[in-house]
Amino acid sequence: MKISCVGLTKICFVLSVSLCVVFFLFIPWMKHGSLYPPPLLECNGTCRSGHLESLLEGTRLPPQRHNRSVAGWKNYSAQGAGQSEEPLQIEDVFIAVKTTKKYHSSRLDLLLQTWISHAKEQTFIFTDWEDQELRQKVGNQMVNTNCSAVHTRQALCCKMAVEYDKFVQSTKKWFCHMDDDNYLNLSALLNLLSAFPHNADIYVGRPSLDHPVETLDRVKGDGSASLKFWFATGGAGFCISRGLALKMSPWASMGNFISTAEKVRLPDDCTIGYIIEGLLEVRMQHSNLFHSHLENLHRLPQSTLLQQVTLSYGGPENRRNVVRIPGVFSLEQDPSRFRSLHCLLYPEVSWCPSKK
Ligand code: UDP
Ligand code: MN
Repeated sequence: MKISCVGLTKICFVLSVSLCVVFFLFIPWMKHGSLYPPPLLECNGTCRSGHLESLLEGTRLPPQRHNRSVAGWKNYSAQGAGQSEEPLQIEDVFIAVKTTKKYHSSRLDLLLQTWISHAKEQTFIFTDWEDQELRQKVGNQMVNTNCSAVHTRQALCCKMAVEYDKFVQSTKKWFCHMDDDNYLNLSALLNLLSAFPHNADIYVGRPSLDHPVETLDRVKGDGSASLKFWFATGGAGFCISRGLALKMSPWASMGNFISTAEKVRLPDDCTIGYIIEGLLEVRMQHSNLFHSHLENLHRLPQSTLLQQVTLSYGGPENRRNVVRIPGVFSLEQDPSRFRSLHCLLYPEVSWCPSKK
């Protein structure tokens, strides 16, 4: 059989194209060291341990995007968690309380008398005035941010920037932000945080809205495309694991937080969500254990109050928006209900009514 020169060239061409196609098809499999396709990174309901599920009760755990901790979730077991590692202690947590000159006595004192008295060394108070009385009470735990004492986006972002930098300087495993009208239940907090896999990128709090925020991407992009992200409302408190906080550094450390917030023109808590969800593509963990006075606190079932991580109380516009706790102190004696709650959690405290 005779094959012409042109025919031979055609056969060679077809063969080399087929070889190339086969080669390119196999590249992704070869990268994973096997002839099987790589597993799909998916994290649905099965990624939750029973314990974590109950802590994030009623909340959605969205799929983790580009998050190296995905595999960790799948194998995570709450029972085994404490065995290999030291249990999480309050010493591992950096608690930042944001306050301002005018609330030192009306709000902060109540916190100092209640939950902060059980976490003195871990709690830092970020304010805007060198209050000698407060300095005497808490010493170096008070941080004068030198930010202005006004309720503007810039002033609040200025405080968040100082909180972030102070946390990074520490060696703590968790950063938790609180407002000065939050009651923080320390053991409920430890319960929640210790249920997360060690070293995972975690941002946990209460979503501010029931839908993600959409904004123009002026940091990663040129501002022509939009970016959708969830954020945890600062008024209910939120926490970030150390590893994730360090990844935020290009947009958050050494004054960069203020310039990021300026670029996107968002408030402090919203800018945190923008950096974590929008830029780092790490999903926020939605938890309904954090509470601000934007919700109806009356509605919280009494039987669950001692498990809540944070609580709050209504401001002058809605003084009646408080949690329902019977007995202990009257509404006149304890309008925020924080003292009553504190006595249920710590009945041994000297000013709590002694049990007969
Ligand atoms: N705050 C502040 N500077 C101000 C006013 C408020 O740092 O000029 C702090 C305040 O201490 C609190 C937080 O911002 O920790 C939220 O303030 P507030 O509860 O009055 O407002 P809302 O919860 O309604 O946003
Ligand atoms: Mn508030």
